[in-house]
Amino acid sequence: MSAPNKSYDPVEVETLKPEEIERMRDEALAAFAAADSLDALHEAKVAQTGPASPLALANREIGALPPHAKAEAGKRVGQARGAVNKALAARQVELEAERDARVLVEEAVDVTLPYDRVPSGARHPLTTMMERVADVFVAMGYEVAEGPEAEAEWFNFDALNFLPDHPARQMQDTFFVQGPEGTDESGSGVVLRTHTSPVQARALLDRELPVYIVCPGRVFRTDELDATHTPVFHQIELLAVDEGLTMADLKGTLDHMVQALFGEDMKTRLRPNFFPFTEPSAEMDMLCYVCKGESIGNAERPCRTCSSEGWIELGGCGMVNPKVLTACGVDPEKYSGFAFGFGIERMLMFRHNVEDMRDMVEGDVRFTRPFGMEI
Ligand SMILES: [Zn+2]
Repeated sequence: MSAPNKSYDPVEVETLKPEEIERMRDEALAAFAAADSLDALHEAKVAQTGPASPLALANREIGALPPHAKAEAGKRVGQARGAVNKALAARQVELEAERDARVLVEEAVDVTLPYDRVPSGARHPLTTMMERVADVFVAMGYEVAEGPEAEAEWFNFDALNFLPDHPARQMQDTFFVQGPEGTDESGSGVVLRTHTSPVQARALLDRELPVYIVCPGRVFRTDELDATHTPVFHQIELLAVDEGLTMADLKGTLDHMVQALFGEDMKTRLRPNFFPFTEPSAEMDMLCYVCKGESIGNAERPCRTCSSEGWIELGGCGMVNPKVLTACGVDPEKYSGFAFGFGIERMLMFRHNVEDMRDMVEGDVRFTRPFGMEI
């Protein structure tokens, strides 16, 4: 074998001829220019700059050249590869800009298109109000108790010390499902409960003492639906029976409730009243949460919420009548209790300036929407 050929002519290496390098470069530039998408450009990139591309192969041939020819061939190939990479980057930028412009058009959202989604539902403001009140008592350790809406006359009236001639027991006030002469073996008729108080009697019979319960629920009276009456409405009722409970415990509990619902500086007052199931009984007023009583006798600052009376009548309360305790099997010598109840509709009316009770029952979302979408 002969020694390496000192006079090796690079021109003799076919792939390294200047016109051949130019052809490879031009071919690559043409391939990039012809690529009409980013995918096509990627294919051209692999073909024209990858390890098997003509220029990469030519670059490898340089090593076989004699030293004096290497520099010139290297420069030629390097320049060609530089031009190819530059053209590739420029085309990449162009095609990306085209794609971005196209996406902006194709994926644009037309905000003027008609809205056809079904709006999500929300609970009725009466329900949320009732639960908010119940939560105040649950936080104090009370349990939520419920009872049937079609109730035995005995639970609705007799157990609660309504005498047989009490006006509430007449047909014009109460929905009778089954008359007093009904077929119930106890001789008791069936009514749609006129208040949530029968739940108290049921709880005293069913539960171990002491009893601390809060009873939210629907009640029924034979009223016509108008701006201030509805035949179906909601009450929340409170009952505590324990040893040593006094009127002071009732007052403290009521003060805590109005403070939790209307603010720290709220208070209540009690006015004597009569209910068959409590003795003594009282009407409970809370300080007007808008004027805080400052509208009383103050012509400069009238208050619509309380009609400038300074107080808002909220509900009835009192110490559980010993006769009720006895009827429910509780020893009134040992135990005492207090009870309190009020209407949720009425609280919703003064708290949110609702003027017509019919708005609450007609199911128009224009009424309920401002109360929010609490679920
Ligand atoms: Zn007021």
